[in-house]
Amino acid sequence: MNNDIERVLYSEEDIRAVVTKLGKQLTNDYQGKKPLVISVLKGACLFTVDIIKRMDVYLDLDFINISSYHGGTESSGKIDLLSDLKEDVADRDVLIIEDIIDTGRSLEYLVNLFKKRDAHDVKVCSLLDKPEGRVVDVNVDYVGFHVPNEFVVGYGLDYEELYRNLPYVGVLKPTVYEK
Ligand code: 5GP
Ligand code: MG
Ligand code: MG
Repeated sequence: MNNDIERVLYSEEDIRAVVTKLGKQLTNDYQGKKPLVISVLKGACLFTVDIIKRMDVYLDLDFINISSYHGGTESSGKIDLLSDLKEDVADRDVLIIEDIIDTGRSLEYLVNLFKKRDAHDVKVCSLLDKPEGRVVDVNVDYVGFHVPNEFVVGYGLDYEELYRNLPYVGVLKPTVYEK
């Protein structure tokens, strides 16, 4: 599997450092608040388990599964809600945990959904942000790394459901797409 990677963008050490930094900010900003942390599956799974361990506050954890990519490396633009939350977001301070913000459509969908359900506040923490991909205007409150306009995999992010278990974020060799 590692042989399919052309270039490592963010190593395990880079990710650990950025998670520690974000964890400190979140600990500070959510002191006394008991946020509802919402992990966006499947991409944010690894980032979520690491970031919540660095948040020294009481919090609730829930998961939502949406899909925007239907295989390949291009966003389809259509969002499907694959599985919904268990918790009620009404009057809660919601913190969305995302893997990457590209077009912004997934995030826009989630923010609108939680606001419609009367969340008190909705903030977003994303490991990666790809500003060049943006199609809709969304606000990302906490960002780990700004990535170039390339398709990345690893640390939760997939290509056709593979590579989520890489401990780093990298770029695939072009030969992988040609298979
Ligand atoms: P958006 O709706 O902002 O276009 O992107 C939403 C989702 O598309 C992300 O949460 C992620 O699952 C997927 N995505 C966007 N860019 C990339 C990328 O470079 N690599 C991978 N593996 N997934 C991406
Ligand atoms: Mg995602
Ligand atoms: Mg995907």
